[in-house]
Amino acid sequence: MIVMKFGGTSVEDSSAILRVIEIVKSELSRKPVVFVSACAGVTNQLLRIANLSADSKKGEVDDLISTIKTRHEKLVDELISSELPKNYLKGKISVYAHELRNLSQAIAILGEATNVARDALAAYGERLSSMIIAQAMEEKEVKATLVDAREFMITNSNYTQAVPIFDKVEKNAKESLMPPILQGYVPVTQGFIGATEKRITTTIGRGGSDYSAALIGSMLDADEIQIWTDVDGVLTADPSIVKDARRIKKMTFSEASELSYFGAKVLHPLTILPAIEKDIPVYVRNSRNPSYRGTLITKREKSDSSVAKSIAYKEHITLVNLVSSRMFLAHDFLEEVFEVFNKYKTIAHTVATSEVSISVAVDDTTNLDEMKKEFERFAEVSSSNGKAIVCVVGENLRNNPGIVGRIFSSLDGIRINMISLGASEINIGFVVDENDIEPAVRALHDELFSNPLSPGLPKEIFD
Ligand code: ASP
Ligand code: MG
Repeated sequence: MIVMKFGGTSVEDSSAILRVIEIVKSELSRKPVVFVSACAGVTNQLLRIANLSADSKKGEVDDLISTIKTRHEKLVDELISSELPKNYLKGKISVYAHELRNLSQAIAILGEATNVARDALAAYGERLSSMIIAQAMEEKEVKATLVDAREFMITNSNYTQAVPIFDKVEKNAKESLMPPILQGYVPVTQGFIGATEKRITTTIGRGGSDYSAALIGSMLDADEIQIWTDVDGVLTADPSIVKDARRIKKMTFSEASELSYFGAKVLHPLTILPAIEKDIPVYVRNSRNPSYRGTLITKREKSDSSVAKSIAYKEHITLVNLVSSRMFLAHDFLEEVFEVFNKYKTIAHTVATSEVSISVAVDDTTNLDEMKKEFERFAEVSSSNGKAIVCVVGENLRNNPGIVGRIFSSLDGIRINMISLGASEINIGFVVDENDIEPAVRALHDELFSNPLSPGLPKEIFD
C-alpha cells in the first residue's frame, strides 16, 4: 500500500486533476490511498469569508461564495460527463454553498469568527475537491471511493491547530481505509481536516495535508509516501536566483529540516516525521512532470558521497548585538539574554557568542523595542535590520574540513556579519546584507554545484 498526497496546485483545475488521475492509475498495482488538498487558493478564500463575515461584509462574502461555487461547478462540467453523478455533484455543491452562507450569517450575527467556525468553513475546500476528484476517477475507470477524513482523523478540540489522537486515528483509519483497499478500490480522502470525538470539524493547521498523509501512511505501514506538488522536488538553490540549480535525488530528513527552517519552501519536514520515524520512504514529486522521480527523503543515507546538498536563505533578518555591561559570568549573561527572548516568544535563528558578547539573528521584530529596554539593564544593545541568513546544508559537511575553506573563499568580497556552524554540523550559515543574497547564493552555488571539476556531485544524488 502507498499513500499519495496531492497539494492544492496539483488539483487546481480540471487539467491538473486529469494529470492526477493518470498518476494514480500508474500506481494502481501498489494500492494507493489518495489524500487531496483544497484546490489552490480555496482555503484562503474560505478563511477570508470568516473574517469578512465577522465584519458583516455580506456583499464580499456572497461574491466569494459564488466564486468558489462556480469554480467547482466548472470542474464538474469539465470532468464528469455522466448525467447522474453530474447532477448529484452539482446538487452537493449547491448544498455546500448554502451551508457556507448559513455559517457566514451565524458569524455575522455573533460578530466574531471563532476557531470552531473557521475550521468548519475551511474544511469545505477539501470536502469539495475530494468529492469531485473521487468521481472524476470513476469517470476514468478507476474504482475510487470517497472517504470522509472526519471518520478517522480524530483530534483534540484545539481548533485550527488540532492534534490527532493517535490511538483513535489508527483504529479508525484501519477501519475506514482498509476494507475499500482490500476490495480493490482507491480511497480518496481529505488532508488537513479532522473531527473531535464529538464529531465537530477541526483542522490540523495550514499546510497540514502532508501531515495527514504521513501520519496515516505510517499508521497503515505504507510502503511509500508520495507528496505531489508543482516542483521537481528539492533543488540545490532557489531557481529564481540560480538558473541552473540542480535537482536533488536523495536527501536525509535532517537536511530537509535544516533547509525548510532556512526558507526552502517545498515541504515542512516536521509534517513527514511520522513516516521518517517508521523508515517509510517519502518522495516529493511534481505532478506536472510525473516521469521525474522527485526527491527521496529518508531517515539517513548510508553511502552518500556528496558534500553539500543545497543552499538556502532567509530574508528579513535583524541582527541584535549585545555586549555585557557587567562582568557577568558567561552563563549568567546568556541566561539573562535568553530569558528576554523567551518572555517575548522571539525565536533566535542563529547565535554567535563570546564570554561578554552575543549576536543573535531574529526575523520577528514585533517586540524588539521592549526587548531592547530589558537588555539595556545588563548590556549594550545595537541592532541592524535588512540582513539575511544564507546557509549551506549537507550531512557530509562535517566530514569535509576542507569545504569550509572553499566556502569562505567563494564569498570573497561579500560582507559577512556573522558566521555559524550549526550544532548538528550539517549547516554553515552566514548573516549577510539582504542586498548580498543573490551574489552570495550564486557564488556558493558556483563553487559547490556548478563546477564540473567539483568533487561531491555524485550522479545518484544530483541530476
Ligand atoms: N488546504 C490547506 C491549506 O491550504 C491544507 C493543505 O493544503 O495542506 O492550508
Ligand atoms: Mg494548500
